Amino acid sequence: MDTPYREPPVSTGTPLIEMRGIERTYVMGDNLVHALRGVDLTIAAGSSIAIMGTSGSGKSTMMNIMGCLDQPTGGSYLLNGKDVARLSRTQLADVRGRMIGFVFQSFNLLSRTSALENVEMPLMYQGIPGRERHRRALGALEAVNLADRADHHSSQLSGGQQQRVAIARALVGEAPIIMADEPTGNLDTRTSFEVMAILQGLVDQGKTIILVTHEADIAAYASRVVTLRDGLIIDDRTQTPVKAEVAA
Ligand code: ADP
Ligand code: MG
Repeated sequence: MDTPYREPPVSTGTPLIEMRGIERTYVMGDNLVHALRGVDLTIAAGSSIAIMGTSGSGKSTMMNIMGCLDQPTGGSYLLNGKDVARLSRTQLADVRGRMIGFVFQSFNLLSRTSALENVEMPLMYQGIPGRERHRRALGALEAVNLADRADHHSSQLSGGQQQRVAIARALVGEAPIIMADEPTGNLDTRTSFEVMAILQGLVDQGKTIILVTHEADIAAYASRVVTLRDGLIIDDRTQTPVKAEVAA
């Protein structure tokens, strides 16, 4: 029997993610693909970090492991002090649901469904009753300045608005971590700034933002940039983030 795992509260500045010697090897027929070859990474709560690197360097593999969607084949991963590298699938899903909200390049919204219903979706899976779902989903839409679009179908929204709905969906479960894989990959420059302004605002409220990007302009909004190459971290620097200003 799996015992449900309850993690302690997250406090700003303490290590939220601690990876030591993380390896991920895929078996492809007779070949082994070493996607991660010993990654050490500690991420403090309340920070923003951009993961960069060329295609095939291991960014998505690392994001999947950090996001508890996949498990390493070697090394240890402490998420908020708890070793998640060896949890069962159910326990992992449970931790993921409470700790992490995901944002994807392609938004992943249901098209003939209102913004509000899209944001409510994760709460439905948690069995939260209708009124409570509505209230919380509306609050999350307010946080991304889209409360006035709650009834619009996603197909009636611009790309930037759709990504903001997706951010609201990532926020609604009140997870402390937001992970975004190329969140601005399908957006033009101006709209990318809007999305980055929202993500920066979340850091100011204590969220931890981890984003994968191959664009230096986008990484500039993070307080730390980690670069991968061939499954290893080759560069790790902190910086003063560029402030994302939204033109009035
Ligand atoms: P990135 O996101 O930086 O482009 P990935 O993490 O997707 O890199 O891939 C890293 C390496 O692992 C690549 O060589 C890729 O081909 C390989 N890889 C990724 N996923 C799988 C998989 N499911 N099976 C086999 N090889 C994989
Ligand atoms: Mg990738």
